Amino acid sequence: MKLILLGPPGAGKGTQAKMLIERYSVPQISTGDILRAAVKEGSPMGVKAKAFMDAGSLVPDEVVVGIVEERLKKSDCSNGFILDGFPRTIPQADALTSTLAVMGKDIDAVISLDVDIEALVARLAGRRTCEGCGAGYHVVYEPSAQEGLCDKCGSFLIQREDDKESTIRNRMKVYTDQTSPLVEYYRNAGLLKTVDGMLPIEEVWSEILAVLKDFE
Ligand code: ADP
Ligand code: AMP
Repeated sequence: MKLILLGPPGAGKGTQAKMLIERYSVPQISTGDILRAAVKEGSPMGVKAKAFMDAGSLVPDEVVVGIVEERLKKSDCSNGFILDGFPRTIPQADALTSTLAVMGKDIDAVISLDVDIEALVARLAGRRTCEGCGAGYHVVYEPSAQEGLCDKCGSFLIQREDDKESTIRNRMKVYTDQTSPLVEYYRNAGLLKTVDGMLPIEEVWSEILAVLKDFE
């Protein structure tokens, strides 16, 4: 199961990736999560990435491509992986194809989550993440049982720095300009599977499972 989850910020990639990794026992590779961990750690890569992330811009291709190349070499990727938030540009997609080819692998499918831009602003503004275990919530669409606390581990839920409305607008523009051409790119490669990301979380999940039946 070697998948890419494609879609704008807030489309539900992370939410669906968490369910996919449980079902298929493959790792989620989220470049956003890896970069946030690097920022928190204060590593040289994190220091370099922070300004781009705070502005809602993309971190340079060579940085993220390097992250993914290293991650794909780890043994837990031998049965597959779920790429979430990568690739985000055509050069990243080309680099991914080359890296996988060297490893004798390729992508099975690209699941594109289709969501109206207006709905994304409400999703991102209400997104909360557990600072302990990383579980995702939404104040309205996926609330925790106790406000501000994670159902799974009891840690505090936090709002991401880049989920403020001013930054969200730039992230949408970045998506439209730099990432949305990947829809056509993967359609032309015969890999694109489009799923209606406007549906409730469980219905999106059912649609994804229906698409993936062919690959099981
Ligand atoms: P992405 O990883 O694509 O940026 P997330 O999976 O983090 O997006 O989802 C963004 C927010 O929207 C989260 O708060 C999540 O709980 C919520 N969400 C995800 N999928 C849906 C959906 N189908 N309907 C409503 N809210 C959703
Ligand atoms: P995400 O968690 O996927 O929403 O990503 C958060 C931020 O991390 C983005 O706004 C970018 O600044 C950076 N980022 C994550 N993935 C990539 C990528 N593939 N290419 C460039 N920047 C990325």
